Amino acid sequence: AKEAGRNTIRFFTMEMDRQVQDRLEIEQELRRVLERDELSLVYQPQVDAGSGRVVGVEALLRWHHPRLGMVSPLRFIPLAEEIGLIGPIGEWVLREACVQARRWREQGLDELRIAVNVSARQFRELDLPERVAGILEETGLAPHLLELELTESMLMGNVERTEETLHRLKHIGVELALDDFGTGYSSFAYLRRFPIDTLKIDQSFVSGMVTGSNTESIVSAIIAMAHSLGMRVIAEGVENATQQRQLFQHGCDQMQGYLFGRPLPADEFAVLAGER
Ligand code: C2E
Ligand code: CA
Ligand code: CA
Ligand code: CA
Repeated sequence: AKEAGRNTIRFFTMEMDRQVQDRLEIEQELRRVLERDELSLVYQPQVDAGSGRVVGVEALLRWHHPRLGMVSPLRFIPLAEEIGLIGPIGEWVLREACVQARRWREQGLDELRIAVNVSARQFRELDLPERVAGILEETGLAPHLLELELTESMLMGNVERTEETLHRLKHIGVELALDDFGTGYSSFAYLRRFPIDTLKIDQSFVSGMVTGSNTESIVSAIIAMAHSLGMRVIAEGVENATQQRQLFQHGCDQMQGYLFGRPLPADEFAVLAGER
């Protein structure tokens, strides 16, 4: 038994070593990700709830790791923030998304709004508005066609400073969305104060929306509240026709989810958006 215990401890230590080693390796590789051209964006349609037409698209980041395959952004974005790499990566994402939106326009696709996720660290950088303005100028994308997705936790820290940053961004003419709504702590008072254009209902609400459930009432209340503040509402993670119907009945404006399309490479997205 003593022997087994020792082996367990040794195995455990080895396992920890391996995890630390893995992380170090990923960290080093993350530092070279831009030079090696291993990042790409995939695009998921956002449709108008009434007509089903594609009216927008969210850009989602992918890392094709040579050995590990696809690494989820949920895994490497926090790491990139920690080691100070989110600046250049975030900037790459913004530029790539704007370039792609311009390209679709030139290919004759209808005008689409493109949504880009902004990380917490990126949002706190003082020169974010100038960087965004620079990229729009460089790529020639109309500002109102770019939407920045922010989360509640990013906004509720230093409220004065947040308010200033949001107004500087609005001054450029971009749209602002509140992502994953309902999962953080938003105060109604701040929601009124912040110039947010779009509220994105988190997918956990959509999946929990059994008919007659509390969740359905909450979703209905969120939509009514957002509309009373002049915001548009998008539901995310819509996977089936029942959810679609319920959301439509409660007045949800736009939807996003596997029911309408998975995140796709740019050329495949163009085919899907062109067909509708
Ligand atoms: P998010 O912004 O909430 O994005 C939605 C996630 O839900 C995406 O996961 C998307 O692929 C997935 N999804 C879409 N429709 C459905 C559906 O019908 N059902 C289900 N179950 N899932 C659906 P993904 O692409 O793995 O991205 C995960 C998260 O990583 C994103 O969550 C976002 O927070 C972050 N992220 C992705 N790209 C970027 C980026 O460029 N910059 C930053 N800072 N974060 C990013
Ligand atoms: Ca998002
Ligand atoms: Ca989201
Ligand atoms: Ca999410």
